[in-house]
Amino acid sequence: MTSAASYTLTTPLEAVPDLTSPMVKMLANEGITTVGELLAEFPFRYEDRSQMEFKGFTPSLEPVCHHVRVTRGRTVRFGRRSGFFEAACEAAQSNPLNQQLTLRWFNMPFMNRTIAVDMELIVYGKIKEIKGRLVMGHPEYEIVRGDAEDAGALQIHTGRIVPIYRLRGGLRQKLLRAVIWQVLQKVDDSSVADRLPKPKADREFAGLHRGKALCDVHFPIGKSELELTRRYLALEEFYILQLRVLRRRLLWRANTGWQQPVHQGQLAQSFLKSLPFTLTEAQQRSLDEIRRDMTAPEPMNRLLHGDVGSGKTVVALAAMLQAVEAGHQAALMAPTQILAEQHYANACRWLEPLGLRVALRTAERKEDNVAPLFQNQKTSHDGAHILIGTHALLFDADAMPQLGLAVIDEQHKFGVAQRARLIAAGHAPDVLVLTATPIPRTLALTVYGDLDVSTIDEKPLDRGQIVTLVRTEKKLADIAKFIRGQIEEGRQAYIVYPLIDESDKLVAKAATAGFKEWSDLLAPHLVGLMHGKMDSAPKNEVMSRFRSGEINALVSTTVIEVGVDIPNANVMVIFNAERFGLAQLHQLRGRIGRGAHRSHCVLMIAEKDVEARDRLNILVETTDGFRIAEEDLRRRGPGDLLGSAQSGEAPLKFADLLGDTRLLTLARRIAERTLSEDPTLSDPGREELRMLVLETDAPAATLQ
Ligand code: ADP
Ligand code: MG
Repeated sequence: MTSAASYTLTTPLEAVPDLTSPMVKMLANEGITTVGELLAEFPFRYEDRSQMEFKGFTPSLEPVCHHVRVTRGRTVRFGRRSGFFEAACEAAQSNPLNQQLTLRWFNMPFMNRTIAVDMELIVYGKIKEIKGRLVMGHPEYEIVRGDAEDAGALQIHTGRIVPIYRLRGGLRQKLLRAVIWQVLQKVDDSSVADRLPKPKADREFAGLHRGKALCDVHFPIGKSELELTRRYLALEEFYILQLRVLRRRLLWRANTGWQQPVHQGQLAQSFLKSLPFTLTEAQQRSLDEIRRDMTAPEPMNRLLHGDVGSGKTVVALAAMLQAVEAGHQAALMAPTQILAEQHYANACRWLEPLGLRVALRTAERKEDNVAPLFQNQKTSHDGAHILIGTHALLFDADAMPQLGLAVIDEQHKFGVAQRARLIAAGHAPDVLVLTATPIPRTLALTVYGDLDVSTIDEKPLDRGQIVTLVRTEKKLADIAKFIRGQIEEGRQAYIVYPLIDESDKLVAKAATAGFKEWSDLLAPHLVGLMHGKMDSAPKNEVMSRFRSGEINALVSTTVIEVGVDIPNANVMVIFNAERFGLAQLHQLRGRIGRGAHRSHCVLMIAEKDVEARDRLNILVETTDGFRIAEEDLRRRGPGDLLGSAQSGEAPLKFADLLGDTRLLTLARRIAERTLSEDPTLSDPGREELRMLVLETDAPAATLQ
């Protein structure tokens, strides 16, 4: 860290004398041209080589590291193509036990030219005992050259926690590590600008700054220092993410909104009174939060988060009535035709008695028996108080200049760009997003970080219990018998075949075959069929016959997944359950358990799929969507849960969404403070930060 030959992050690698020009070229081919870019090649794991003294070779389940010397090499061939190379080794420093370790590489004939007798290697892998010999198969290895230069370099590669890099473009592990080491020796770490604001966010990180973290992350002094560094960099990552979402929030709130106060609350009152139930406490609390937002002049941007069946729709409708009372229109957008139809049917049933006009707008059907509300209104939507449709409605914002509230049902992909479309005639409507994807709170802060969140965390009391079972096809006859029994008691059943992709013909076929089979199994009871390949007219017809109870069992693909609400259906059988994520199964299962009857969900798996049985057990144990989501997150990572919601965001390199909850909350607090001082991040000291944060702003959104 002498000032004479010190580098900054922008120093071009060409100006680093320690690097050979082939090396510079190789790095450049991978897009690494500056010191900063080189140091951003973070290790993807570490090997603890700090304890290298030899205590004998022993079989191990975990990979181990040894410094060995090759005593013999041989190639064994099984034919022209296949064979293996093996090298017999002993411990390099001292071998009091006189033990031997065999390294073995299959189908890598060139190894006999790479490895020679008397060579010293650092090897890393699992040791197995095979026919009385201790064998390390396909070890990772580094050659220790015996020369003076290498001896000096040995301190980089052994006797410490050693970084392991993902190699690309012909780069070699040991060489890359040495290069990063050499460069780090001369980086002036005080020249590295911090991303986190000073004073330091947290006592825990008091001694750390970005420059030091960059050194430590490559060559940590010890395990606890490494963990501290990782946490520091994780905090930084979360901070940038939070700045992004909070800025999106600011941008939305900077639009001109409507003030939609509860005048008398007459409409909503009569609506709620007309329901055959009273709101749960959680529903009431959520509704109050929504109302407060709608009353304020800034446009609302709120998420109503609640497990399947918790009763989000009613809350949303009550909010819509507040917009209507304030003299505006309200729109409800559903992800599918079926759900739009269902919402439409409910809204007509509940709201038309109150004298309200409800209209349906989907790509396939436009229905309203609605005369214009006021004489001089021209556009077709103007007559309706309440508009219900698929997301296509979004694209028609200009036809809804009086839109006061937009409710987006079951949509995770409702991003900045879509929201911007809702702005018409200079006004941004209040926005309420409904979701049943019970993502853990921490994840919600990230994905929905620009939204305020209301959570319905209790279900109506009158719900029957759901019993979940995992079964194999052997039990089909028993299951059919059980379903017949339920049907004879007046209940209904869903039978679901997996859908990998809407256009999957095979699945439609499986459902069609299943339909035949179940028609026989359940005869003379009536079975219906529904899949994504059907036109919407027959689809709607089947759905309404099932809804009315005429059809006793519905064989379908996952088109019934979200939102469908038929309380009398209390049995669900899901075939090939192993193909679904836990969260998705939970959603599907949410179609039952909506009435007062006890419900049964049967998850069908292949005979010997032990892994699936184990995974699906969480669904047997609990109907708590949040626990299930966490389990899903643990097992499959956030990608599946979020779908493309997080696309566009860089994946997290250091932060762990499950484990680093405290850091995430801390990052949000710091980000809030930063933006309250400097909403546009225009402080000259925040140049780099601004670039990192603003790169994801949608072009449509600008801050006035
Ligand atoms: P989701 O949150 O899954 O969208 P819905 O809004 O579809 O749930 O509600 C599920 C069912 O529960 C509907 O039949 C609805 O009428 C009913 N429901 C809603 N709130 C209550 C309540 N407080 N008490 C009893 N039933 C309710
Ligand atoms: Mg719903």
